[in-house]
Amino acid sequence: NADVVPQAPEDALFGLMAAYRRDTDPKKVDLGIGAYRDNNAKPWVLPVVKKADELLRKDPDLNHEYLPIAGLAAFTSASQKLILGDESPAILEKRATSVQTISGTGALHLGALFLSKFYHTKEPRTVYFSDPTWPNHFQVFSNVHLPYKTYPYFKKETKALDFDGMISTLEGAEPGSIIVLHACAHNPTGVDPTQDQWKKIADVIREKKHFPFFDTAYQGFASGDLAKDGWAIRYFVEQGFELCIAQSYAKNFGLYGERAGCFHFVTASAADAESTVQRVASQLAILQRSEISNPPAYGARIAATVLNDKELFADWEADLKTMSGRIIDMRKALRSKLEELGTPGTWNHITDQIGMFSYTGLSEKQVLKLREDSHVYMTKNGRISMAGLNTNNVEYFAKAVDKAVRE
Ligand code: PMP
Repeated sequence: NADVVPQAPEDALFGLMAAYRRDTDPKKVDLGIGAYRDNNAKPWVLPVVKKADELLRKDPDLNHEYLPIAGLAAFTSASQKLILGDESPAILEKRATSVQTISGTGALHLGALFLSKFYHTKEPRTVYFSDPTWPNHFQVFSNVHLPYKTYPYFKKETKALDFDGMISTLEGAEPGSIIVLHACAHNPTGVDPTQDQWKKIADVIREKKHFPFFDTAYQGFASGDLAKDGWAIRYFVEQGFELCIAQSYAKNFGLYGERAGCFHFVTASAADAESTVQRVASQLAILQRSEISNPPAYGARIAATVLNDKELFADWEADLKTMSGRIIDMRKALRSKLEELGTPGTWNHITDQIGMFSYTGLSEKQVLKLREDSHVYMTKNGRISMAGLNTNNVEYFAKAVDKAVRE
């Protein structure tokens, strides 16, 4: 009976959010959760999402019927184009199949489940995650019984990519391993490979016959440029890899709670690629049916409305620039405040890193000190969500860091 069930630890991030809510100090700063905030520290509904919402509400034919198992076709096809590019060889050659999922997490899960069933020898394949990575990766892949290892990613001394460590681990990994790659704006470090480094990574993956699995949660949100943030995936596809993509619309549409996402499977270029893709699609449909039956409609309708309309798409790109621009401004402000204060250490990594997060290099002890003394909430690994900073609190935060570092 259930008295054998052990107590599980609280989710670290959601626990942090609860502690922040309990804190009654008016100066408190939330740098934990990876969700965009405007300059007043408030959640932001993208203006283009409001517009799409109004359009949907006006539609007299809108109803609450089930979506198909694979989701809303207008959404999945637009999602393919968004991540692969309109002229992608994978789309033109019908080598891609896509399923609407419960946001990025659901896409990762569906992909992991599919690989655990269909991509193995006698033993299951090993999955490789970057060290560090988004902690949920471990749980999602372990739940479907895929063993995992990590590849070095972040060099503490330089607060930048450990490229040599990454390459040599990928070279030494058992051939055919599944390599999980953050497409852009790596979480938690904010450190991405350069295009030349991506090319080398692709070479090793090809040589060792590894299987690339891209996680893309920040396209457009990182740099404000959709093609730039999608570059690595598009490069791999052009190179003819068979690969998976887990795509989230949480951040770039601000649709966090609506759970809009997509899983894509792209097969390698081959004479029978189209039939391979159809067989893959048929299996994905069975898995989806048993897990969630069919995906939720609202978020996908919003995204599809925007993605399939030229004008709304342009509005969305402007909204992406608003979000990414504010975050880039906060990076500059934080770095210059710390440098002005003469805070011990170097702070160039704050502006070198990209996307939602900065890996500050603060120790766990300093993080806890910041929480106790200054009511600043961030994860123990020293990661801050840049979106939690604004013109009203960036100086306060910089001073708090300065104090913690000097103690
Ligand atoms: N992957 C990474 C690296 C992420 O940072 C996130 C969001 N925190 C996700 C996937 C998925 O998030 P969601 O399920 O909310 O789309």
